[in-house]
Amino acid sequence: MAQTILITGGTGFIGSHTVVELIEHGYDVVIADNLSNSKLEPLNRIERITGTRPRFHEVDMRDRDGMNALFEAEPGIQAVIHFAGLKAVGESVEKPLEYYENNINGTLVLCETMRAHGCKTIIFSSSATVYGENPVPYVETMQKLPASNPYGWTKWMIEEILTDLHTADPTWNVMLLRYFNPIGAHPSGLMGEDPRGIPNNLLPYVAQVAVGRRECVHVFGNDYPTADGTGERDYIHVMDLAAGHVAALEWMLAQPEPSVEIFNLGTGKGTSVLEIIRAFSDACGHEIPYVIDPRRPGDLPASWADATRAKEILGWEAKYDIAQMCADSWNWQSHNPEGYTD
Ligand code: NAD
Ligand code: UDP
Repeated sequence: MAQTILITGGTGFIGSHTVVELIEHGYDVVIADNLSNSKLEPLNRIERITGTRPRFHEVDMRDRDGMNALFEAEPGIQAVIHFAGLKAVGESVEKPLEYYENNINGTLVLCETMRAHGCKTIIFSSSATVYGENPVPYVETMQKLPASNPYGWTKWMIEEILTDLHTADPTWNVMLLRYFNPIGAHPSGLMGEDPRGIPNNLLPYVAQVAVGRRECVHVFGNDYPTADGTGERDYIHVMDLAAGHVAALEWMLAQPEPSVEIFNLGTGKGTSVLEIIRAFSDACGHEIPYVIDPRRPGDLPASWADATRAKEILGWEAKYDIAQMCADSWNWQSHNPEGYTD
């Protein structure tokens, strides 16, 4: 019988792509999301791609009764992949209480509910942000450095909370996946990133300029100590990231003993802002206008992964290059210029 996996935040960007990958690997998928940063339309798209509609519960992670009702309605949940959370760095600086409350309380209520229902296997969406100002490439064994914003601190703290949980009760099986910069979209063009309002992240911004929704890209600084002076990041195709979750889950469920494991999910390569703009221009077939602006406060010059551990232990490595990531983003954006319309 298929194993049932609960995906919190499963209608969001990374969650929805991971749901497709899980269904295609034979898992039975249940989604929980409060739709605070997503819509219902991805459920239709998942069904179009896979032929299966995942069961959906509109519930807030912080709602104890709602979460309990979900676990009662879905008695066979064997593991949880926990994507649900608020993720805008700038907004977290303006609304620290909302970020701590949502991300931390949501995780606490989720874990309490899991424990009450005997499910103690969790994969958590962490972030490269926990490495702070460590030198690149980031290795899992590096000490975490203080975060520079409340969003980053929530990732930092939830990693500690889940580690403490395993220390207190070693039957908890915990995986902390540190993502680098997910971009791209499902190759069908049916699913992709659909940010609300003005995008904070580079790729959706570039894509919206390409499609004519915005005038030009603002490059945040060209005086960094990098090859062309613009910031370098480890962009990873969201389908590679989704495959990384399936590899992590399969590995985790096959281990004889529960543990706490940390894996970077990145490509191991840095790409500059100007290289991204160039690659996207090639993908969409026209020049993307840009201007150089001052640096964005809090940005690091460079961030990329040492991706060795995931390859050696999980047998997973990213396979798509920047050209493919931009081509798939463009395919999504050009077919869905206004994103998902419910
Ligand atoms: P997303 O906003 O598209 O998805 C998150 C989902 O969680 C949304 O559908 C939202 O409605 C839901 N959600 C938020 N708070 C909730 C709550 N209290 N109860 C129920 N649902 C709630 O974001 P994403 O890009 O898919 O990111 C998924 C996870 O990965 C997040 O935890 C994010 O912090 C983490 N992450 C993202 C990136 C990135 O660049 N996208 C990088 C590193 C880590
Ligand atoms: N960036 C930019 N213009 C934008 C958004 C981002 O120049 O409109 C740069 C940013 O300074 C960084 C890179 O693009 O060097 C990636 O930023 P993003 O916000 O996508 O991800 P981050 O790594 O900051 O989480």
